[in-house]
Amino acid sequence: MAECLFCGIAAGEIPATIVSSNPHTIAFRDINPQAPVHVLVIPRDHYPNLAELAASGDGLLAELVAHAHEVAVAEGIADSGYRVIFNTGLQAGQTVPHVHAHVLGGRLMNWPPG
Ligand code: AMP
Ligand code: ZN
Repeated sequence: MAECLFCGIAAGEIPATIVSSNPHTIAFRDINPQAPVHVLVIPRDHYPNLAELAASGDGLLAELVAHAHEVAVAEGIADSGYRVIFNTGLQAGQTVPHVHAHVLGGRLMNWPPG
């Protein structure tokens, strides 16, 4: 059993509502949605945060962002608009130390967030 929650989801050991799957990335619905569409996109391999994924230099970050856009298209929010958020570190509210992009949309998103 994987020690990391999202590694567990990627391995199919922990149940999740999978939205779509690519060779190196996987998208599933957030368990506590903050918008009508709230999907998380993760690399199958474990990187603790955005900085480490970016530093890996193997194109995986670009694949992850491309997958986030694919999700937006599939969920019907690509034209109305959507957010892609990487919470990074304590003050940003990162609670799961396996890098994940939040794809949020389907409502008017307030800015700044409150
Ligand atoms: P963050 O706070 O940026 O680290 O985001 C972690 C996200 O993971 C939160 O929005 C949680 O609601 C979500 N989450 C936690 N556990 C699960 C789970 N088992 N399945 C799906 N989403 C989850
Ligand atoms: Zn992990």
